[in-house]
Amino acid sequence: MPINFIPNDPKASGGPPIRQKTPRTNRPATVAGFNYLAHKPAALHPLGDPEFLFWQSREAALAAVATYETLAGKKVTRWARSSPIRKLDLLPDDGTDLNAYYNGDSLNFFHYKTGTKTTWSGASTDVVAHESGHALLDQARPDLWDSSYPETNAFHEAFGDCMALLTAFADPATRTAVRTRLRRQNFLEATAEDLSDGVRRALGASHPAAQPRHAHNTFKWALPTTLPTSGPPNVLSSEVHSFARIFTGCFYDTILNILRDRIGAAKTPTAAQLGDAVRTAGKLVVRAAAEATETTRFFQSVGQAMVLADAATNGGANHLAIRDAFQKHNVALGSSAVLAPVAALRGAASTARGALTRTAVTDLRQRLGATPDERMVVTAHAIAGVRVVRATHLRHVALGKLDDRLKGVVALASQRVLVGAVNKTAAILGAMPESTAGDDEVHTFVATLLAADRIAFAGTSARYGIKSALRKDTRLRLPTHVVRRVGGTKVLRRVRFAC
Ligand SMILES: [Zn+2]
Repeated sequence: MPINFIPNDPKASGGPPIRQKTPRTNRPATVAGFNYLAHKPAALHPLGDPEFLFWQSREAALAAVATYETLAGKKVTRWARSSPIRKLDLLPDDGTDLNAYYNGDSLNFFHYKTGTKTTWSGASTDVVAHESGHALLDQARPDLWDSSYPETNAFHEAFGDCMALLTAFADPATRTAVRTRLRRQNFLEATAEDLSDGVRRALGASHPAAQPRHAHNTFKWALPTTLPTSGPPNVLSSEVHSFARIFTGCFYDTILNILRDRIGAAKTPTAAQLGDAVRTAGKLVVRAAAEATETTRFFQSVGQAMVLADAATNGGANHLAIRDAFQKHNVALGSSAVLAPVAALRGAASTARGALTRTAVTDLRQRLGATPDERMVVTAHAIAGVRVVRATHLRHVALGKLDDRLKGVVALASQRVLVGAVNKTAAILGAMPESTAGDDEVHTFVATLLAADRIAFAGTSARYGIKSALRKDTRLRLPTHVVRRVGGTKVLRRVRFAC
């Protein structure tokens, strides 16, 4: 039996309308899939019906995973941290909120009533694909979950928005509808129109989330430490969803530039040409997200990894398209320097793959100023087919000066160094992380969490939500971070990603 399906967003203007379609089959038990709540069989359940919401959110989540797998060239076999590891709970209506979450175990969507109108975040394919994007990035990059850098966390949001774009572009009717208006704002590059409209009606037009996020934008990258921690929708702030628009803009412009280089900037692509360009850019961003070294400048790092992936798989055919797109948003790439040796470490290169000699580790720890209680993790890694060693030093950054409630609490700041073998000597590649800049970045990130009231200080609110100080705001918002005791240290840890 067919279902009613909204291919983009309930409030997408100019996109393909709601349609009837045969639902996707369940994913096999041998790969990563979803746990579903009890539901009625597929049928043309009407909008507003819980059964419609179930089949709509299921279809969108399966579409996002299928889109990702096509681009990654392999099946997603397990999630990052769910129990059991192959199942995420899909919760189409988990209570009252104007948001959606991925918490490692589930994708959670909500409803919120303003006047006579109800907003269901799970009814938007944009929103479901965005949350699925968090889960998909998490299985590829579990190391980014607890990052304390604004740009890494903004990238997690940008990747969610890129998955919303890619999932929409994968739909043939959508490609046909959008191809004539790619170079101006349109229903596809705008994400979560309906949810942001709900935020606007409930919390006012100046709320940061009161407008859809646009991938077709002119925002220019600036150091997040120099930006406000919050602002209205049209202002670039260091809040992760706001700052994410820089990377999403770079990605959308990469698609436009690939079309520019293939058919000319003024021509309207056929649906097939558009599909090819999107697939090219999508494959590059999925691979780069998996391979890029985390630095405080993660947008640049992912862009560089896209250029290197393009060189390895397409002979560099899209180098200018990528470079120009990032340059337009003020992100300079200079990707040829990523794997260039900058300094030799003491001792010989290890002969074991993915290992460093004890002498080299000691040298690295000294250069990074690691204290005895801070760990260094060494793993094998490859970027665009080049095998390297990745050493990660987790630095403790004190947060007490930001807020009294954070006295004695630290955030973990990862400092990652790539090491290669040069003339049988272990050598640092690319650059050494700059530790004091990293501390500033961590403070900025935590300041944005405090400004948005995203940290649960009371024990119960990690699960049941934080009450707003505003009386008109009746949401019980779930926190994204909590303070946990790890060994003898109080550490700020992530518990979920918000929409
Ligand atoms: Zn998100």
